[in-house]
Amino acid sequence: MDEKYVGRKFTTEFIKEDFARDNEFIRHMITSARMLKAYDLTPETTGNISIMTCEGMYIKAGGKSLGDLTPDDIILVVDYNPRENRVIAKGGKEPSSEAPMHWLIYHRFPRASAIVHVHDRVVLENIKSVKRNRIKITEKETDYGTLKQADEVLDALLYDDYAVIKNHGSISIGNTIEEATKRVIDVHKKILEDESSH
Ligand SMILES: [Zn+2]
Repeated sequence: MDEKYVGRKFTTEFIKEDFARDNEFIRHMITSARMLKAYDLTPETTGNISIMTCEGMYIKAGGKSLGDLTPDDIILVVDYNPRENRVIAKGGKEPSSEAPMHWLIYHRFPRASAIVHVHDRVVLENIKSVKRNRIKITEKETDYGTLKQADEVLDALLYDDYAVIKNHGSISIGNTIEEATKRVIDVHKKILEDESSH
């Protein structure tokens, strides 16, 4: 269930110039990451958050802890080529292994401007409760960071702005990072309550 780091499943082309990290988007990402940490939703280096802007997609760097996110842990993805499975990024660090999935979600769903993905143990260990609450779960179990997994997630998000990725975690999209974060926390609380009342 925990995702062992086995390497990124895409290549990254780095653009040498860096970008300014002193901006509102990054401040909001850090605030959201702290909220997720407060609910114990950021174990080790799992999970990632992103925001799509006109500059590109801000996303957590790979191998960094979401719970202790700093501006230096954020990189800017300016393009993704699915045919070559190649990410083009600024910021000098490798992007999160799930960067292609985030990118594809933004391109498929214009209603998404922010994405929160966490490995919520409460959700994953209480699937009966997830089903009772009619929360969408991806159909097939797929490997993290693959285009197959991205396809499964894209299908699930046709129905709702939140979905459980089978045996992996959950994903939430929103107009803002606050909205996507709130949804993750609300589902987490709902499953906790549901479990304690059954
Ligand atoms: Zn994950």
